[in-house]
Amino acid sequence: MAYVYDDQNIFAKILRGEIPNDTVYEDEYALAFRDIQPQAPVHVLVIPKGPYVTYDHFANAATDAEIVGYSRAIGKVCALLGVSPGEGGQGYRTIANSGDDGVQEVTHLHTHILGGRPLGRMLQRARD
Ligand code: AMP
Repeated sequence: MAYVYDDQNIFAKILRGEIPNDTVYEDEYALAFRDIQPQAPVHVLVIPKGPYVTYDHFANAATDAEIVGYSRAIGKVCALLGVSPGEGGQGYRTIANSGDDGVQEVTHLHTHILGGRPLGRMLQRARD
């Protein structure tokens, strides 16, 4: 089944300027803003400006320029936030939840950048 983009999702409204956001970075391809319910001292969402639902949708349907632009924006945001280990930061985690099993709440691709404290295991083990 092909992806159908819902242009009424909350991040589409943010991109259109209909809802305010706490912007960290913006360029032609991406917008980065602070998560409204942060789960770590650093919690920023990076979204592409195009209408993509999930990472695989974006990877398969976006132009090369969009893919490079989005990827570079994530790199710039990590540097801006001071979490990049390559620049003396303590590290971070990127997460892009997709679909039902991925527990995606907002149906516009977004990459979470989390950091500012030790983040624990990537996933809980079944017996934890
Ligand atoms: P998910 O789709 O599960 O990856 O998570 C969506 C994320 O968007 C959650 O961490 C929310 O706290 C965040 N969120 C929802 N609405 C807003 C908003 N208006 N501004 C910033 N972050 C938001």
